[in-house]
Amino acid sequence: MTRKFAAFITTMVALAALGGWMMATAVGQQRQPHPAAATTKASSTPTSAPTPSGTPTQTQTTPPSTPGNPVPPNPTTSVASGKKVLFLTFDDGPDPTWTPQVLATLAKYGAHATFFELGEMQSEHSGLREQVLAAGNAIGSHSISHPQLTRLSAAQRHHQIFDGPRSTCFRPPYGATNAKVRADIKAAGMVQVLWDVDPRDWARPGTSVIAHNILTHAKSGRIVLMHDGGGNRAQTVAALEQVLPVLKAQGYTFPAMNCQQR
Ligand SMILES: [Zn+2]
Repeated sequence: MTRKFAAFITTMVALAALGGWMMATAVGQQRQPHPAAATTKASSTPTSAPTPSGTPTQTQTTPPSTPGNPVPPNPTTSVASGKKVLFLTFDDGPDPTWTPQVLATLAKYGAHATFFELGEMQSEHSGLREQVLAAGNAIGSHSISHPQLTRLSAAQRHHQIFDGPRSTCFRPPYGATNAKVRADIKAAGMVQVLWDVDPRDWARPGTSVIAHNILTHAKSGRIVLMHDGGGNRAQTVAALEQVLPVLKAQGYTFPAMNCQQR
C-alpha cells in the first residue's frame, strides 16, 4: 500500500467514524425527554418491523396479529378513510386548568382530539376524563406516571402499561419505546401510537412558532403532538385557536382516534 493510499484510507475511516458519532449524537438528542425538533414522520402505513431501541423514526406500530390475541383496529386508518383529516393529540393531562380550555377551543371549531392521559392525573382530577369523552374525544393511555419505559424493570414497565388509563391506544412517554415496551403494549390489548408532527409546544417557543410548525407540517392523515398537561399550556391553547380556523378553511376535519374505551 502506498503512503498516499494509506493516508486516503485513514481519512475515510476517520470520516466514517465521525459520521457514526454524529448519527449517534443526533439519536441521543432525540432521546432526550422530548424530541429535539419539529418533526414530520410521514408513515400512515403501520408496520410490524422492529426498529432500533428508542428512535422516534417509527410513527405508529400495529403489533402483528397472532391467533388468540385480537389486535385493536388501527386507531387512525379506521376513521380516516377518504377524508382530509388531521389527528390532534394532547398529552400529559388531564389538567384542571388546561384541559377545559383545549376542550372549549376544539368545540368552537367542531374539532375532536385524542388525549393521551396519565393515570395519576386522572386520579387527581376526577371528572375531567368524563368531560373529554362526553365531548366526543378519545382517550389514550400515556402510562401512570410518565416514566421512560425503556429504563424500567420488567415489573415496573408492566405496571405502567397494564394499570394505566383504560384505552386501546398507548403512547409511551417521550416516545421512548423498544421491543419489550411494544410487546407489553400488545399484550395489554393496545396499539402503540406515536406522532408525525411535533410542533414543540412543550418547549413554549411562542404561540406563533407553535402555530407555524403545525400549519407547515399539516398533511392529511398526520398525527400532531401537543400537550394539555405537564406545565403552562397557554401557548398551546392560543396556537390551537390560531390554527383550527385556518386548517378548517383548508378542508381538514379533526376526528378522534378509534381508541375503544374498555
Ligand atoms: Zn408526555
